[in-house]
Amino acid sequence: MKEYMIEIDHLSFRYENQNVLEDIHLQVPKGSFLGLVGPNGSGKSTLLKCILGILKLKEGSIRLFGTDIRRFKEWDKIGYVSQKANSFNSGFPATVFEVVSMGLVSKTGLFRFFNKEQKEKVRAAIEAVGMSEFVDRNIGELSGGQQQRVFIARALVSEPELLILDEPTVGVDAENVQNFYTMLGHLNEDLGITLLMVTHDIGAITDKVTHVACVNKHLFFHGDTEAFNELKTADLSPFYGHHVHVIDHHDHQHGGVR
Ligand code: ADP
Repeated sequence: MKEYMIEIDHLSFRYENQNVLEDIHLQVPKGSFLGLVGPNGSGKSTLLKCILGILKLKEGSIRLFGTDIRRFKEWDKIGYVSQKANSFNSGFPATVFEVVSMGLVSKTGLFRFFNKEQKEKVRAAIEAVGMSEFVDRNIGELSGGQQQRVFIARALVSEPELLILDEPTVGVDAENVQNFYTMLGHLNEDLGITLLMVTHDIGAITDKVTHVACVNKHLFFHGDTEAFNELKTADLSPFYGHHVHVIDHHDHQHGGVR
């Protein structure tokens, strides 16, 4: 039987006077790399907050690792890199090694010296994101894309089975974005980490992504990447069409589905 990291059924969510999600059904199979795509304002963050237990469910259900979210306790199996993670300014006095170590500190709740095994875990996480040569560099000196890799390493250091990334490529330069996806593919294919990537950019659905979900209040598509690639633009027009009503017009100038 197929194992799922996340199973969402009949999920609807509303803020005071606005329906944001309606009857969402979504599964994230173990070992998959799911791209969750939707324009700005389509409810992606709301859905993430429901999955992370930040928002209390009113309608529908979520199971994490087979357990109803209301009884789920194994949060250390889930790594999360928020969109706002990337906010170090150039003066921040911490090396890549120290920033990634914070992933262990937050687990223990105390600053302390790390033993050899823990230091090895930090180095392995830094290597997994391809940042070994920068281990002693100051985080503030790195590019947006390099910083994002460091934040992913910080989430990886506690060895999560599922990693949730919120708009991971926002700070990544255009010329580095393909390498960045290759690194995510490595985490998924070689290290066996299940990935859920939330993005407004349909261009983020590369061949590394195994499954796709298109959300804009409703679920417009959910299937494997092959099926997604076979979709005709016409099939997705309700999805694109819908966002025209929700989004500022100047957002279109940047391309992608905003
Ligand atoms: P996305 O992450 O896809 O940009 P969000 O989930 O942030 O979408 O927002 C979906 C809709 O819900 C938007 O119209 C937004 O204005 C609204 N919204 C988000 N957060 C709140 C909130 N705390 N209270 C009321 N409305 C909200």
